Amino acid sequence: MSFGIYIQVPFCQTKCTYCNFHTGVVSSARFAPYADAVRTNIREHRVRLASEGIVLLESFESLTVDTVYFGGGTPSLLDPAHLAAILGSIRETFRSEFREVTLEADPETVELAKAEAWASAGIDRISFGVQSFSDVELKAAGRMHRREDVYRAVPILHAAGIRNISFDLIAGLPHQTPDSWRNSLDELIALAPQHVSVYLLEVDEGSRLGSEILRGGSKYSASAVPSDDAMAESYDLARTLLAVAGYDHYEISNFAKPGFASAHNLKYWRREPYLGFGAGAHSFSGTQRWANAHDSAAYVQAIAAGRIPVEQLEAVSAHDALEEELFLGLRQLAGIDLARLQDSYGVSVEDRFKSLESSGLVERSGSVVRLATNHLSISNEVFVELMR
Ligand code: SF4
Repeated sequence: MSFGIYIQVPFCQTKCTYCNFHTGVVSSARFAPYADAVRTNIREHRVRLASEGIVLLESFESLTVDTVYFGGGTPSLLDPAHLAAILGSIRETFRSEFREVTLEADPETVELAKAEAWASAGIDRISFGVQSFSDVELKAAGRMHRREDVYRAVPILHAAGIRNISFDLIAGLPHQTPDSWRNSLDELIALAPQHVSVYLLEVDEGSRLGSEILRGGSKYSASAVPSDDAMAESYDLARTLLAVAGYDHYEISNFAKPGFASAHNLKYWRREPYLGFGAGAHSFSGTQRWANAHDSAAYVQAIAAGRIPVEQLEAVSAHDALEEELFLGLRQLAGIDLARLQDSYGVSVEDRFKSLESSGLVERSGSVVRLATNHLSISNEVFVELMR
């Protein structure tokens, strides 16, 4: 049994208009103290977690860290020496046999010297926030990079020996059209990344664009956002073209060439343990879930004061675990084995799928249920119905 480590780096160069994450634009002078705080958090995790009421079972010490994920934010903004030092602290603290170390990066932040330093630190997978190959869409969304940065960055990574690359795309950016979306997919497929994530634009109060869509206004091009139906069609086109190009659709938003599904992210969907370090990072020990406070300055101060600023600590009951199995299991295209759930939890959930099955929203083969492929774009409605 293994576990994953997530490192949150909540800093960005600017704030994208659609972003609803807790990230900030701060002076680069704050990067080194933050990386030091993360390292202290890693080295002293057990005693500090215990003082917050979180007791990692002794058996946790016998587990091996095999995946590390630097997410954000824009972790590629950190000096590679900071990233290497954080990986060094992980190796010193835990039994480690890394098989996947991912760094989220923005294409314009990639330079050869940096990429070589990432590779020599042990980073072997880069996840790029490409989002679109249309400069009009990128500009409207407040992204720092442009289409040509992607073409510049990929050969640099290859030259540095990093060949496992993931691209994110967003369906529903302002000014996106069926033609521009098709073009983004075609350009992405021609560049042949090993992994692709396709997200639908999230509309909520947490982003400036989302707020404008809900309340009105013209500063962030809300009126140029495609309709929900158009977004659903974009998603379905992505599924079709990526399948033809040899990508396996393994999770609602994720596609991979054979052998390149994200080992780290699979742990989330399979309810395997992971520890998160940094401001806002989430953790799951198998019996408890918790998150660190979002504010990066408060996080650094708390670490300096000998604490970990834990929030949202929850014990995961057997009932909670079963609900998580359903929700996370259905996100995976492989589906859920109801017979396995019955064995593990001693209860049958067959009845909860009956109406979804009769309305064609889920499909069944033997004891396995999965989302119907022609209804993947309305998966949230299925989840709401299931959890009712
Ligand atoms: S780069 Fe990512 S995390 Fe940073 S503001 Fe943009 S969308 Fe948000």
